[in-house]
Amino acid sequence: MKTAVYPGSFDPVTNGHIDVIKRALKIFDKIIVTVGDNPGKKSAFSIEERLEMLRECTKDMGNAEIDTFSGLLIDYVRKKGSRIIIRGLRAVSDFDFEFQRALMNRVVDDEIETIFIMTKEHYVYLNSSIVKEMAMFNGDINGLVPEIVEKKLKEKFSNKGN
Ligand code: ADP
Repeated sequence: MKTAVYPGSFDPVTNGHIDVIKRALKIFDKIIVTVGDNPGKKSAFSIEERLEMLRECTKDMGNAEIDTFSGLLIDYVRKKGSRIIIRGLRAVSDFDFEFQRALMNRVVDDEIETIFIMTKEHYVYLNSSIVKEMAMFNGDINGLVPEIVEKKLKEKFSNKGN
């Protein structure tokens, strides 16, 4: 059984992430979507909130497991019995950062491969920060995030930006 790990902040999960998970599930038997617990990174949603949204959005998606990790990603991937890291690529701007990270991971363990999944054209400019900013100023985020995330964003930002 081929298992791949898809790490990220998912703060919150967007339709761009969901698209990557769906595509990855066509290639691998199981995807572990894992939220990085990085205390140094400021987030809008708590780890628990992010996990809950991911669980809800992937519940009908077959073999997707939702988890969280801290520490070195490589160690986590090995612990899970996988050797594949999935990352999404939107524009060239993602490439430099992702390339460095993938090469660094390979230096640490050359058994681990990073597989890049290209975004759907529709989601090229979509990221979690833009979605939060739009929600804060009552912008229309319909179609950019799953319904449950839209609801959570509205709850979180309903008193701001007015
Ligand atoms: P990180 O903070 O690790 O970049 P994100 O939650 O922003 O985590 O993203 C996780 C992964 O999903 C990254 O590889 C990112 O490039 C990818 N990703 C994010 N948004 C999209 C999108 N709209 N289309 C394709 N991939 C995306």
